[in-house]
Amino acid sequence: MDYNLQDTIAAIATAYGEAAISIIRLSGKKAISLTETFFSKSLQNSQSHTIKYGQILNKKKEIIDNVLLLIMKSPNSYTKEDCIEIHCHGGILITKKVFETVLKAGARAANPGEFTFRAYKNGKIDLSQAEAIQQLIHAKSELAAKEASKQLNGRLAEAIKSFQKRLLDTYAIFEAYVDFPEDDLDIYDEKKNFVYLEDIIKDMKKLNDTFDDGGKSLFETSKFILVGSPNVGKSSIMNLLIGEDRSIITDIPGTTTDVIKENINIKDVNLQIIDTAGIRQATTRIEEEGIKKTKENIALSDFILLVLDNTNKLNEEDEKLIKSYDSEKTIIIYNKIDLNKKILKRDNSNITYFSAKTQEGLSKLKEMMRQMMLKKMPSKEGVLITNVRHKKAIEQAIEYAEKVLIGMKKKISLECLIIDIKRSLSFLSSIIEIDIDEEVLDLIFSKFCIGK
Ligand code: GDP
Repeated sequence: MDYNLQDTIAAIATAYGEAAISIIRLSGKKAISLTETFFSKSLQNSQSHTIKYGQILNKKKEIIDNVLLLIMKSPNSYTKEDCIEIHCHGGILITKKVFETVLKAGARAANPGEFTFRAYKNGKIDLSQAEAIQQLIHAKSELAAKEASKQLNGRLAEAIKSFQKRLLDTYAIFEAYVDFPEDDLDIYDEKKNFVYLEDIIKDMKKLNDTFDDGGKSLFETSKFILVGSPNVGKSSIMNLLIGEDRSIITDIPGTTTDVIKENINIKDVNLQIIDTAGIRQATTRIEEEGIKKTKENIALSDFILLVLDNTNKLNEEDEKLIKSYDSEKTIIIYNKIDLNKKILKRDNSNITYFSAKTQEGLSKLKEMMRQMMLKKMPSKEGVLITNVRHKKAIEQAIEYAEKVLIGMKKKISLECLIIDIKRSLSFLSSIIEIDIDEEVLDLIFSKFCIGK
């Protein structure tokens, strides 16, 4: 991707569509001089962080729009470069026309995430903070936004830097001993160094574990899959949860042959509900296909909503289903209690009684789903690993640090161990530092939206 830092870049920073205002932003050495060529007022003596009212003009000096122009001068801007924000009237056509004027004046259309890339390249933020900005934009729950904001404020970088500092201590001791072995340095206490390194690894592993202990799920939408025999009311429950008729409801068993997925919000958490064909022996080819998909989706889901029909005695298959699911992940819904008040009581805390017809039990079910998800969410105050790239880097840093420990046990020469410490340090660096592969950078910044 073309990330030439010499260009002055521009993008529409607001979402596409009709709105009260749209914002077009520019960044780069020529942001101000270039804007002056199409703006009705001079910007020469403008102070940073001031707003000017004026007109955007075309080549014939005709007015395209009346706008507010925000000027942010280097280094006090998002990118640390001169930046201009044009607040024009919202609307697809007018925004496009203003943007075209900016490009005609000599700006280049920005690539996805290029403003953040510049903020990173110009030292305003480190790489982990740039990634946190991306996560903040995509956060779908308060918890996720809170975590992204922590990382944006440098909390992850702090943790990584503290590991680096501790590893550097070990590195320095090894290096000193290699360089001046004859000096009989009393700093080289092998046992002490071993324990010191062991502690660093323990702490790195603790941080690494936060990914599986909730960090991962923060930015993923948890999946709840509806399973149960045909006609127990899965589609009806799905429609109630999403608040509209999306699944097809009939009283002919096996009518939901396709998989339907919908995202919903329950208070502060975002989740996906999947409705599938009922699990039972298929009688038609289409149903067979649906059941196959159900099984695949169960494997990919985080939670199960097992629906049973309260009007029927449980059959062998239902009993099998109840037993086969992990109670930590499953809510058992006894549906149709409006038809049969004699409830099939069972001893299990994850059971709820429900009527898709009268909606009895709907808020209780939603709360159970929410609680189940929150249990999976991290409760710790410390910083979390929420990004696969960071997780992989820490894992590799751990791997090389462990090689050093093994090497110490085997009495391998310190020169060799130093190489592994350096590798471990460089994996930690890759989470926050500038010196990183262009390919990795492309991968990170291409996930951003244009204009960010
Ligand atoms: P699915 O095959 O499991 O998806 O079941 P459906 O949602 O298609 O429902 C099958 C039939 O049961 C339909 O006729 C629904 O109207 C009916 N039904 C579903 N839930 C209830 C309920 O709680 N009470 C009553 N009386 N009927 C229900």
